[in-house]
Amino acid sequence: MKKFALAGNPNCGKTTLFNALTGSTAYVGNWPGVTVDKREGYYKKLDETLDIVDLPGIYSLSPYTPEEVISRNFILDEKPDCVINIIDATNLERNLYLTTQLLEIDVPIVIALNMMDAVEKNGQEINVPELEKRFRVPIVPISALKSKNLDSLMKKAYQASKEKRTGYTVLAETSVKSLIEQLTDQFKKKGVDNPLFHAIKLAELDELEVKNHPELVEDVNKAKETFSDPTFGNDFEAVIADARYKFISSRIEGLRKQISLDNKNVKKDKKTGVLLSKSDRIDKILTNKYAGIPIFIAILFLIFHLTFSENFLFFGGLFEAKGIPTNFEGVPIVEGLFYTDAGINSPGVMLANLLNGFTDWLSSLASQGLENANVESWASGFIVDGVLAGLFSVMSFLPQILVLFLFFSILEDSGYMARVAFILDRIFRRFGLSGRAFLPMIMGFGCSVPAMINTRTLADANERTATIRVIPFFSCGAKLPILTAIAGCLANMMGFGNADVITLSMYLLGMLTAIVAVLIMRNTVMRGDIPPFIMELPTYHLPQFKALMIHLWDKLKHFVKKAFTIILVSCILIWAICHLSWNWTYLEDSQINESIIASLGMFVRPIFTPLGFGSQLSSTWGWVFVVAAITGLIAKENVIGTFGILAACIVSTFDPEADPDGIEAVYIMIQNTGITTAGLIAFIAFNMLTIPCFAAVSTAKSELPDHKFKGTLVFWVVTSYIVSSTIYLIGNWWWTLFIILPLFGVAAYGIYYYNKRHPIKKDA
Ligand code: GDP
Ligand code: MG
Repeated sequence: MKKFALAGNPNCGKTTLFNALTGSTAYVGNWPGVTVDKREGYYKKLDETLDIVDLPGIYSLSPYTPEEVISRNFILDEKPDCVINIIDATNLERNLYLTTQLLEIDVPIVIALNMMDAVEKNGQEINVPELEKRFRVPIVPISALKSKNLDSLMKKAYQASKEKRTGYTVLAETSVKSLIEQLTDQFKKKGVDNPLFHAIKLAELDELEVKNHPELVEDVNKAKETFSDPTFGNDFEAVIADARYKFISSRIEGLRKQISLDNKNVKKDKKTGVLLSKSDRIDKILTNKYAGIPIFIAILFLIFHLTFSENFLFFGGLFEAKGIPTNFEGVPIVEGLFYTDAGINSPGVMLANLLNGFTDWLSSLASQGLENANVESWASGFIVDGVLAGLFSVMSFLPQILVLFLFFSILEDSGYMARVAFILDRIFRRFGLSGRAFLPMIMGFGCSVPAMINTRTLADANERTATIRVIPFFSCGAKLPILTAIAGCLANMMGFGNADVITLSMYLLGMLTAIVAVLIMRNTVMRGDIPPFIMELPTYHLPQFKALMIHLWDKLKHFVKKAFTIILVSCILIWAICHLSWNWTYLEDSQINESIIASLGMFVRPIFTPLGFGSQLSSTWGWVFVVAAITGLIAKENVIGTFGILAACIVSTFDPEADPDGIEAVYIMIQNTGITTAGLIAFIAFNMLTIPCFAAVSTAKSELPDHKFKGTLVFWVVTSYIVSSTIYLIGNWWWTLFIILPLFGVAAYGIYYYNKRHPIKKDA
């Protein structure tokens, strides 16, 4: 089967094109570096089925980042039948830089001039036939997003794949010409494929090439002795890069025309007279030096408010004041659904309530049915209090997870998140990271696993390790139920209607911990230079409905799959050890204290006493936090799943009359353990910062060298312990502040002092 590769800069629309051609639903994101591994699919609209490979986005074929190596090796070694070079037509200069390198390889090439819809919108026109002549390869204008002209692109590519093409270089007329010719001959003599490409890379003293052909390096060094460029001396790499850019700008001159100026997307700046696109004008505000971060925080607040608030329009207490019945026992469902005494619900909460009403109804139906069928009490307990209580309590947060991710996807796809990375770069730099590290971190809000894989876009190994370590602190979808449930409980305990404020604060706590942890690492064990941050800001556009739905569908699929495998099995096991004693006899709900789980919990819990959820809690069921946190090491959803199962047993023991359902039972259980507000916050912090789920741990293991992985496990345990105990101590006894703060101060000064005495050796 013929193999076609899609190659191009990050964010030029490769994945969008890949999805359009193959009918796949791969992840499309409006920022660079989303595809880090290659992906395959089939194109079936021609006589022959074609194998299409989506390569990671790259700016050049030099092996500086793992993606560049993947893409380069694929094109050189697997010899695709055609390379479709995708170019963002709104940014020709930058995109053609890669093209000039691809042209040097002996492979058929077709250029897909993508985003033509955006070019038109900006009132511009590109002279494609002339461009085609100047670059000597077929060029097809397309819009991957609107699926425009794709058939004609594929026809041209198929045509091209039938003919051999010999690479040519745009450096033929430059001062490095004779060196390149000489090296090319050497490679030809050795019978190496793609001699021209290798010759040029060797002239640049490219790392891979030097390693593979050490015997030819001498030639380059000799040439260096006599060579001298007026600007770049004998730095061939710089000379060549410069020559490529010069070639590009001379070749595209006059081929772009602003055909209409009355276009509403383009306006003249009053002061400077420069033409500004709509994107530029939006950016003047959103990436403003001072307003940028406050705007980002305001947007985050709005999102959390729309997702979690029970006092959406700040009408809290209004209903109560007017004597309208509230959502406690016995009010019709719509009232709980749309509003409570705390105010009007946000859309996220409404959806969650709707689902909870449904699952509560299902479980009461199940328990009725089982009772009528005279099923043994242990069996109905297993189904209702074990499987259903566990699964439903995890599921009850699904609507809010989806709503939150819908908002995140919109921010991402519109191009705003890339701006945030840009704004944050200035700040990140002070902590020892580049803005580039922000992108994997933001992905961490979804799931740590792809986020950790995405750190491959970071060039510096220490920056990469530090980023992988703090990614779990960006609370993922599975941790969200912990935040939401406990925030709800906290809001109850503190008599405070705004669970959204608590949830957002916990997210911010995670980010703050990440920043402080990076700062410490980059000044101690992970010292190193911060690589420069080069990222093109993508143009803004309205999020693609289809892409948003794909994101949500992915999330939902992942969740359902997990719920019916690992979470279900965990729930069954947890229920079993709640109802079994060490000598394998079945225990009733009221005997839960003799169960295996209780004794294990009691045994381990002294470790957590300094964190506020250990031995100081009720001896009857104070161990529930410890047990939940431990089950969370398998999957974070288990924390709430475990609470659901335990609450279903425990709550009925201290008040056999009351039969609260689902999450309400969990609240009652938690409040009866005697935990303090500070202890509860410490509990969330612990779960958020400690060793993440099994999947994330194994990803970290495969992405990091062995010794760094071990260090990472220790890092997670230590960080969560320190942060949680600090929260608990200061929250419960404020005066401990005067002991803890000086301790931190001394530690910080110690690090500062050490670094002053031992500065980083440059070029070491
Ligand atoms: P990749 O990084 O090269 O894989 O790029 P993606 O396929 O992830 O797309 C990057 C962004 O460009 C996404 O937000 C797409 O919606 C957008 N995009 C892709 N193709 C087009 C197009 O033809 N026109 C416009 N206006 N936007 C596009
Ligand atoms: Mg991609």
